[in-house]
Amino acid sequence: MGLPHQLKNRELPARATVSLIFLAHRRRGLGHPLLCRVKAAPSAMDSAGKDARSTSKAEHASRRREIDYLYTPGKKTFHILLRMKDKPGAFSGVLAQVAKKVNLQATRAYVDGDAAVFSGFAEALSSDETAESLEKAIMSATNAISCVITPDSRGVLVDPYHVGFENSFGDAVLMIPSHALCHMFDQMSKIFGSGCEVMLFYEGESVGEAEGAQVVAKLGKDLARKTPGLLKIVTAAGWGDATFLGPITPSGAVIRLEDCFECSSEEQVRQSCAFMKGAFAGAMKRILDTEVKCEETKCRFKGDPHCEFTLGFGQA
Ligand SMILES: [Zn+2]
Repeated sequence: MGLPHQLKNRELPARATVSLIFLAHRRRGLGHPLLCRVKAAPSAMDSAGKDARSTSKAEHASRRREIDYLYTPGKKTFHILLRMKDKPGAFSGVLAQVAKKVNLQATRAYVDGDAAVFSGFAEALSSDETAESLEKAIMSATNAISCVITPDSRGVLVDPYHVGFENSFGDAVLMIPSHALCHMFDQMSKIFGSGCEVMLFYEGESVGEAEGAQVVAKLGKDLARKTPGLLKIVTAAGWGDATFLGPITPSGAVIRLEDCFECSSEEQVRQSCAFMKGAFAGAMKRILDTEVKCEETKCRFKGDPHCEFTLGFGQA
């Protein structure tokens, strides 16, 4: 019997990934492009005596970057797809070879079956670099299994090997810019008027119920109900930074949603975040196995700094 899906697709240890990438960049005095949003560390102790090395989760939080193409006019670039043995040190061995020849631009690594996979865009350090030479160098690493290099010299290189995304449940996931989804909602609102928010609520409820049912099916009701941190799935998926305000009681709970995608629209044609209201109601309905009433009591559309949703359990 194979490993559970989410384990098979777990990411490689971050330390290995970061050390490899730093290896490639440090030689040229560059920071890792994917880490450029991390703030520069001040002196170890600030004037108040607080350990300045410790930073809050918020300061570390950033969007993961999924880069499906690289635009580098005038540069010689390669897409590297590498399978290697899933052994400690395999990754660093390969990257030591890569670092001699290319500057990594955007990478990802994950485990697929018995092998580890590395995929990334890279810029040649020398104009004489070739796909054949790069492949030869990578395959000289002890744990490399196979390698496919796709070269490009016209300035645009698309990842030719990945066909979308999947989440922790193994579901295929669409990536759509949040502004595009907002624009769709705005257009619906212009066509259907106030009825649009009712439609969005039911759409959101439907999505929430499906997601809630997934969580229950995978984790069981007990764990789903006793783990308020699961709300961060919403955050990790990019809908907004969601937190329970205060305790979850038998009668209800309050969710604060910062940076909500739904009210990030530049247009002011909608009045509330009806989709997220439905999504929270639907998810909690499935997790708690009861009717859930949800009201949005604060919203950026109304001038509030964030959105808040008050949930009533056992209420239709
Ligand atoms: Zn809102």
